[in-house]
Amino acid sequence: MTKIMIVEDEAALTTLLKYNLEKQGYETVVVMDGKDVMPTAMQEKPDLILLDWMLPNVQGIDLCREIRRTYELRSTPIIMLTARSEEGDKVRGLSFGADDYMTKPYSIPELMARIMALLRRVQIEVPQDNLSYEDLTMDFAKRRVMRGERPVHLGPTEFRLLQYLMEKPGVVLSREALLKLVWGGSIHVELRTVDVHIRRLRRALNEGGEPDIVRTVRSAGYALDSTPNDEEE
Ligand code: CA
Repeated sequence: MTKIMIVEDEAALTTLLKYNLEKQGYETVVVMDGKDVMPTAMQEKPDLILLDWMLPNVQGIDLCREIRRTYELRSTPIIMLTARSEEGDKVRGLSFGADDYMTKPYSIPELMARIMALLRRVQIEVPQDNLSYEDLTMDFAKRRVMRGERPVHLGPTEFRLLQYLMEKPGVVLSREALLKLVWGGSIHVELRTVDVHIRRLRRALNEGGEPDIVRTVRSAGYALDSTPNDEEE
């Protein structure tokens, strides 16, 4: 059974989410206090986390970062629920490791659709073989990425992006193509979201001071390419 962890401090919203998710056949775990999030997530190992941005004591964004940094939880998809509508905050939420976000008040059917889309995206069959390019290797069985001897920590969305880039090194994939491959062409996702996740992927890949391996081809898209990147974002 697919288990969804609801992190939300407003009781009415918690009840609404729990009711609707259970009606869809999901198992739910509710956490209302930010400090219980990490221990509960470690114990319950949810398949997806709905994370409120504004929690008392702990910021949703800090939790998001902590989940991504925790080995056992790093590939758990996260949907950020935010009361703020400012574009900057949305992008900030994504850049701290969330896979999607919704602004309150959100429509329950749309949230359900996004949960399904995100679960489908991360549960897609992974290739049997490992992929490698230059000093980069992807081990699908272990769900591990290495740059030389250094482990690269990627969230589920960046992992999928890298997978498609690794399958065709040197070939430029358009943002539209990546959106379709990774997000299944979801109508809710903007092209700019691809850039946000590419930026995150690039940061993780180059974190050890290695040369940039993700090439940005302006107005065309992205490619994995070890030759110097002469066109910056
Ligand atoms: Ca709240």
